[in-house]
Amino acid sequence: MPFSSLGLSSPLLKAIASRHYSAPTPVQTAAIPVILKGGDVRACAQTGSGKTAAFVLPILQQWTNGRRQTPRRVHALILVPTRELAAQIGESIRHYSSHLAEPIKTICVFGGVSINPQMMRLRGGADIVVATPGRLLDLVEHNALRLSEVSTLVLDEADRLLDLGFADELARVLALLPKQRQNLLFSATFPAAVQTLAENLLNNPERIEIEAAPETTPNIQQRAIETDVPRRTQLLRHLIQSQGWTRVLVFVATKYSTEHVSDKLRKLGIRAAPFHGELSQSARTMALEDFKESLIHVLVATDLAARGIDIASLPVVVNYDLPRSASDYVHRIGRTGRAGESGIAVSFITAENHAHFALIEKRNGMTVPRETIAGFEPEVVDTRVQPPNGGIKGKRKSKKDKLREAAALAANKL
Ligand code: AMP
Repeated sequence: MPFSSLGLSSPLLKAIASRHYSAPTPVQTAAIPVILKGGDVRACAQTGSGKTAAFVLPILQQWTNGRRQTPRRVHALILVPTRELAAQIGESIRHYSSHLAEPIKTICVFGGVSINPQMMRLRGGADIVVATPGRLLDLVEHNALRLSEVSTLVLDEADRLLDLGFADELARVLALLPKQRQNLLFSATFPAAVQTLAENLLNNPERIEIEAAPETTPNIQQRAIETDVPRRTQLLRHLIQSQGWTRVLVFVATKYSTEHVSDKLRKLGIRAAPFHGELSQSARTMALEDFKESLIHVLVATDLAARGIDIASLPVVVNYDLPRSASDYVHRIGRTGRAGESGIAVSFITAENHAHFALIEKRNGMTVPRETIAGFEPEVVDTRVQPPNGGIKGKRKSKKDKLREAAALAANKL
C-alpha cells in the first residue's frame, strides 16, 4: 500500500518523499487513517517501527485543517519519557511539516536544562508541545502555557513513562486537559500498569498490535555469551575487533560504569565514549554526533540516557550489564534491527546474573542459546548447580573439565 492511499495531504506526501521511504510501515498503515478520522489508538509498537510518523503525520494534517487561533493554543500534546525522545520527535515534526503552507510552531520542553529559554519560546503560544511530564507541569505552574484546548494527546513510550515513575505527574497533566479529546497511546510493552492506563484513558480505541516480540523478529540475532565479570571488557574488545563492529551501543547499569568501561576500552585502543544523564546536553549531543559520524565506535550508556536515541543504522547492541526488567531488555535490543535492517543483540551472562537472564527469557517467552568464546570462557563455577559428586563451591574448572564440556557441547550441536 502506498503512502498516497492513507488520506494524507500533498505537502505531507512531499515531505515523506524527501525521506525516500518506499512504503508506510505496518503501524503507519494501521494508525494514520484512524487518527485522521479522530479515533483513539492503542498501539503496541516499538521504537524502530515508524511510530513517530504514525502519529505526527495525521496530527499535522488535523492542525492544517483546523481553526487557527492567536495567540496559538496547544493543539497537540505529546508526552514522552526523556529529553532525547522529545528532541527527536521535535526534529521529525520539523521535517514532516516542512512543506506545509503555514509554519507550525512546535516547542519541545524537558527537565535538566534551564526553564527560562523554554518559557521565552512559549511566548505567543505553541501549536504542538512535546514534553516530559515534570517540566510540563512546571511550565503550567509558571503560566507559560495552557492545556485547556488540547485536541490530541499522545503518550509515547507509555511503558517507559510509568517505569520512570511519571504516573503521578501524568495524572496531574491529564486533569488539566479538556475531557473531549483524541488520545493516542503508544507503548512497546503492555504490563498491567500500562493496560490500566490505557483502559482509563482511551475511548473505544483502535487496537494495533504491530510489534512482533523481538525474540520472533527475524532481523535481530540474539546472542548470550557466557563469561566472567572481570573478562567482559576484554571480551567486548575481542568481539569489536574480530567482528569488525564500528557502531556499538553498550549498556551498563550505572553512570559510573559508563565512564569506567569507556575508559578501559579507550585504554585498549577502542574509540569509546560514555553517555549518561548527568552529562550536559551539549556533551550528549556531541557524543551522539561523533557516534553517528563514526568518530566514536562505541557508546557506553545507561538505559535512561540511551532511551530514545534514534540512530538510523545501529547494527550492534551489547548488554554488558543485564537490564533490570524483561521490558527493558525488549527496549534495549529494539535499538538495533530497525526499519528492516538486521541487528545483533549480545548479552554477557555471568555466574552472578545467569538466573536473572533466565527470568528475562521466561518473561519474554524466548530462549537464547548460551555460547562461549574461546579464551573468555567463565572460570567461576555456577555455585547453584553442583556436580553430582559434590562440587566444591567456587572451584575453578580445570582445563580438562573445560575440554570435556566443549566436546559434550559440540556433540549436542551435531
Ligand atoms: P520510529 O519508530 O518512529 O523511532 O522510527 C524509526 C526509524 O524509521 C526512523 O529513523 C524513521 O526515519 C524511519 N521510518 C519511519 N517511517 C518509515 C518508513 N515508512 N519507511 C522506512 N523508514 C521509516
